[in-house]
Amino acid sequence: MNIEKTVQGVRAQVKAWRREGLRVGLVPTMGYLHEGHKSLIERAVKENDRVIVSVFVNPIQFGPGEDFSAYPRDLNADARLCEDAGASLVFAPDVSEMYQDNFSTFVDMSGVTEELCGKSRPTHFRGVCTVVSKLFHIAAPDCAYFGQKDAQQLAVIRRMARDLNMDIEIVGCPIVREPDGLAKSSRNTYLSKEERNAAAVLSRALSAGRTMLENGERDGELVLGEIRNIISAEPLANIDYVEMVTWDSIEIHHTADVPVLVAAAVWIGKTRLIDNFIFERE
Ligand code: AMP
Repeated sequence: MNIEKTVQGVRAQVKAWRREGLRVGLVPTMGYLHEGHKSLIERAVKENDRVIVSVFVNPIQFGPGEDFSAYPRDLNADARLCEDAGASLVFAPDVSEMYQDNFSTFVDMSGVTEELCGKSRPTHFRGVCTVVSKLFHIAAPDCAYFGQKDAQQLAVIRRMARDLNMDIEIVGCPIVREPDGLAKSSRNTYLSKEERNAAAVLSRALSAGRTMLENGERDGELVLGEIRNIISAEPLANIDYVEMVTWDSIEIHHTADVPVLVAAAVWIGKTRLIDNFIFERE
């Protein structure tokens, strides 16, 4: 497995694979890889002849005062995980390779980006759409893999690929969790022992909401109220949002009569964690 730092190097490799008629999958990540990322890579390896994992902490998807500089990085460990999972190439560019001087072209989206994380992080999805479209142009994959952990991001990328006629299949993958339910995340490493224990409240609250829906409750206000109550009972947790939106157009919708995404963002101390589930009535 190779680690490539340049756009030109990735392009040359992909061209060679294409000449052999090979199918290429892409897994975009910000690195500090864990079992959640690994599940995406393994799925990509099953469904493609060659898999590229990009490892890039994308500065333009972080707002002012967010954790861009503090975001954990360990390229050697990431490369080992990618190799174990069967990837063929890691693309790990420097910021200057992705954003040259006077970089001034952005991919922006309305609607799907406006609620949930888009509300709390107003420039986030512009940064995500821009970097993912750049990665799509660089790697020209047949398909790309995204986790439902970032459900709004998955909806945004699907919309972007559709709207901009990108001939790339977007594959959504299930959330991988710790034994106590906490969704795996590179940001979990920020948590102290006490905070780590408290963080389990997020998935526990969402599970309680899901159980209400599975038992026939359709009133979103009641379900969201229960989730908020459970989270609020944890002294170390502060709610950013708990919402029910249509899946996958991400519009506020407080009746579970259509497929809905129930999503939450919660501060545990200085760490912002997200989690969600999708509920579709049978
Ligand atoms: P990140 O490195 O956090 O930008 O994540 C890269 C990709 O991995 C995104 O598509 C995430 O949704 C996905 N991902 C992150 N954590 C998990 C998880 N616990 N389970 C499944 N996918 C995940």
